[in-house]
Amino acid sequence: MAKRKGNLIVISGPSGAGKGTLVSRLLERVPDAWVSVSATTRQPREGEKDGVHYFFMDPDRFTDLVDEGGFLEWAHVHGNYYGTPRASVEKAIAEGKQVILEIDVQGALQVREVMPGCHLVFIEPPSMEILEQRLRGRGTEPDDVVEKRMRTAKVELAQKMEYDNTVMNDDLERATEELVSLIDSFACDTRGSL
Ligand code: 5GP
Repeated sequence: MAKRKGNLIVISGPSGAGKGTLVSRLLERVPDAWVSVSATTRQPREGEKDGVHYFFMDPDRFTDLVDEGGFLEWAHVHGNYYGTPRASVEKAIAEGKQVILEIDVQGALQVREVMPGCHLVFIEPPSMEILEQRLRGRGTEPDDVVEKRMRTAKVELAQKMEYDNTVMNDDLERATEELVSLIDSFACDTRGSL
């Protein structure tokens, strides 16, 4: 494949909408895709590795990085801090990668302010009932956390019109194909720049 121009693609959607699964599937199909690893102050879940799933850090270290301008964006989500490391993202875009950020709505809107040429893609669950079933079915979070995530989901869904594109994750294969086509269309669009 010929080298394509770098792009920044921001993917958001409520917890349980299937963002993580969709992103891992698109990584298998888009050879120049690259996913940013965020920093967080939340505790690792079972099986999560530092530097792979997140850079896990304490709040003091996180605050130092904020002060140093080390984040492209950062936000407080579900009681913890999350942020996108700036340097690695800028490097990957410069190398011509299709850079994927899987971040929340507050973060997505901040990224659009600093990099107006980015593409905001919202992953939508087929319904609130299905979203709740998926969150409970995961079995990783206690009831009060699921309820908090459902409340956040309602707020996030209300902001989907801020996004350039929406992909409904009603069928994993169909949604993956739609996302891959979108990314290919961004990579081929030579208008505008980041
Ligand atoms: P989780 O704790 O389930 O891994 O992620 C919780 C939420 O934080 C998700 O909505 C995820 O998209 C968001 N998130 C993960 N990394 C970042 C980040 O770097 N910045 C922002 N703003 N949100 C993030």
